[in-house]
Amino acid sequence: MKKITITQISEKKIKAGNPLLQMEDFPNELSFDEGELVELVDSRQKFVAKAYLAKQNKGVGWVFSLDNADSFNEAFFKKQFEKAKRKRTDLQSDPETTTYRLFNAEGDGIPGVTIDHYDGFAVVSWYSEGIFRYQTAIIAAFQAVFPETKGIYEKFRYQRKDGLISRYVRGDAVPTPLIVKENGINYATYLDDGLMTGIFLDQREVRGALTERYAAGKRVLNTFSYTGAFSVAAAMGGAIETTSVDVANRSLERTKEQFAVNNLDGEQQKIYVMDVFDFIRYAIRKELQYDVTIIDPPSFARTKKRTFSVTKDYTQLLEELIQITAADGTLIVSSNAANYKEKNFKQDIAQAFKNSRCDYRIMETFHLPNDFAVPPGSKTSDYLKVFIIKKLAR
Ligand code: SAH
Repeated sequence: MKKITITQISEKKIKAGNPLLQMEDFPNELSFDEGELVELVDSRQKFVAKAYLAKQNKGVGWVFSLDNADSFNEAFFKKQFEKAKRKRTDLQSDPETTTYRLFNAEGDGIPGVTIDHYDGFAVVSWYSEGIFRYQTAIIAAFQAVFPETKGIYEKFRYQRKDGLISRYVRGDAVPTPLIVKENGINYATYLDDGLMTGIFLDQREVRGALTERYAAGKRVLNTFSYTGAFSVAAAMGGAIETTSVDVANRSLERTKEQFAVNNLDGEQQKIYVMDVFDFIRYAIRKELQYDVTIIDPPSFARTKKRTFSVTKDYTQLLEELIQITAADGTLIVSSNAANYKEKNFKQDIAQAFKNSRCDYRIMETFHLPNDFAVPPGSKTSDYLKVFIIKKLAR
C-alpha cells in the first residue's frame, strides 16, 4: 500500500476525529486512482491513519481507520454495519416510524455511502466513484448484517459517465408508491425515481414537533413544500388549513397523494405550483396572514427572474415571510447548507426581525437527528439547522 505524507495540521485534524481529506492536507503533489487505499504518514514516515482517495463533491478522500490493522474489506464493513445497527435499536423497534437513516457514511464508519431504511427496503447512496469500487463487498456485508432487507436500490450522487442516477440492485421490486410511516403518519415514497424519494428523512424531529406542538387549530403556510411533508405533518396535528407552495409541477400530484394516503380531506388544503418569491409578494399584497409559516429553501435556486443563495439572500426572504406571519405566530426556518454557519443564520434571523421592527423568541433548535450520525471532529457533517421561532407582538 502506498504511503503518503500529510501535514502536521492534517494529522491533528484526523486525530481529533475529522476524517475528510482535502488537497491542503498533502504537502506534495497528489495523484491517485479512484478508490485507491493509502497509508497516511507524518513527515518522519510514522503511521497516522488509513484512507481511501476519491474525488467527490467535498474533498479528495476519507480516513476510514486510525488502526493499522484494519483493512477496507467485507469484514471491516460488517463491523461498521453491526455498530450502526446497535445504535438504532430504538428506531428499529418503533412501529410508528418505519423509515430512517440506517447508515450515515463517515458518522458510522464507512465514508462516502449512506443507507436509508424504507419499511424494509434499503436505498444505498454512493457519493464517489471511489467508494462505488467497493460496492460488492459493502452490499454483501450489509446483507449479512441486515438479512431481513426486502430489496435494495441505489443512487449515484456523483457524475457517472453513463448518466445513471438511480437503479434496482437486488431483492424484491419495491411497490410504487411505497407507503412508509413516520411518527404514525403515512408518506408515499418512490424509491427508484431520481435522487429524491418523496421525503427528507433528516427533518423527522421537526415534523414531529410541528404535529405535536404547533399545528392544532392553525393556518399553516409551507413554502418550498416539495411533496408537502410538512403540510401533512401539520394537518395530522390538527391544522385547520394548509397552503403548500412549490415551483415544480410534480409537487401538485405528489402533495395531493400525501394527504390522500392519510385520509385527509383535500378541501382544506391549498396547493400552489408557483415561485415562492412571487407567492409571498402576492400574499403580502393581499394581506394574507398565517399562524405558522415554514421555510426550507434549497441552498441555491435559480429561476428565470432571479437567483437565490441562502448565504446572501435569506434575510430578505425572512423579512417578507415575517410580514405574512400573524402576530404571535410561529416561523419554522430551516437550512441544510453546510457552508451556512449556525452563527450567520442566527444573525440573519436577528437582522430580519430588526428590519421588521418585531421581537421574537427562538423556541426550539434542531440539528440532524441521531440516526444521521456525525463524526465527533467534523462539524460540517452536521449541515442541518432548524429554528422554531415565535413572532412577538411589540
Ligand atoms: N421542505 C421540503 C423540501 C424542500 S426541497 C420538505 O421538507 O419536504 C426544495 C424544493 O424547493 C424543491 O421541491 C424545489 O422544487 C423547490 N423550489 C426551488 N426553487 C423554488 C422557487 N423559487 N419557488 C418554489 N419552489 C422552489
